[in-house]
Amino acid sequence: MPFIVLGIDGLDYNLVKRWSIKGLQQKYHGTHSVSMIKPLYTPIIWCAFLIGDNPVKYGYSIHYIDRKRALYGYNPILKYVYKFLRTFTKRKLGVRDFFVKLGLFSYNRIKNHVDKIEAMPPELKKKSIIAELKKRNYKVWIKAFPAYNDAIFAKGRLMTIGLSNKIFRERLKLYEKYTRELISDLLSNINKYDVFFYYTALIDLAEHAFCKFGLREKAYLYSYYKKMEKIALEVSSKYPTLIVSDHGFDFKNKIHSDYGFWSTNFVPPLVPKTIMDFKKLILDAVEKYL
Ligand SMILES: [Zn+2]
Repeated sequence: MPFIVLGIDGLDYNLVKRWSIKGLQQKYHGTHSVSMIKPLYTPIIWCAFLIGDNPVKYGYSIHYIDRKRALYGYNPILKYVYKFLRTFTKRKLGVRDFFVKLGLFSYNRIKNHVDKIEAMPPELKKKSIIAELKKRNYKVWIKAFPAYNDAIFAKGRLMTIGLSNKIFRERLKLYEKYTRELISDLLSNINKYDVFFYYTALIDLAEHAFCKFGLREKAYLYSYYKKMEKIALEVSSKYPTLIVSDHGFDFKNKIHSDYGFWSTNFVPPLVPKTIMDFKKLILDAVEKYL
């Protein structure tokens, strides 16, 4: 029997409870803390989830990603100048806009390499639950997962601030398409792998789009939670499934909240208190249920 992890970015504990979305709430559920990660940047939190430890301790932080973005953004020649200058100053170089105009800095280069830019360093991949499961001879399916191999949703993360309603709507449609395609891909591979790591950023994007939270926005957001429930049920109605989010949404301040949501349709081998407890939870559950 395959074991499924559904990573649903931004899925909020309070909304799941308030709206009583049973398919996401599942039988066992709760919150877990992500307050050890500051700022709350999505790939860093998912890395903590995968390695069962705080990635900042190993140098994987928002600063690491910022530096990598700059290295990919600069023209190959300037790249070395940039590296050289950065060894002398820790401050950001305020010349980027000027370089963009000269064609020496390119946001497209960053966009095209975003999966590599945001991926955790190789040493950390070796500490991840993926490496541990493979060591125990399990076959692992992992696609578009932040900090690991996310070439799909990471592009969207580059630009979420100040989007117009029209762009939000277009992007939501696109994310919904990816969300469905990834579940179909998972299901069509269900007999070929043992453990599945699925991820979608659909709910997080919907929260950013409808965070004004008037009556109409609430109704829209509710419809996305219901869509997500339907998609989750395609797998959780058949297989042991852990649903987990990297944070919720604080609608008062319109920022990510420092705790995430989890739920299982099986008795969890332990009750997770922080994002770093899931590596053990999954390993124990896989040994027990597979
Ligand atoms: Zn997130």
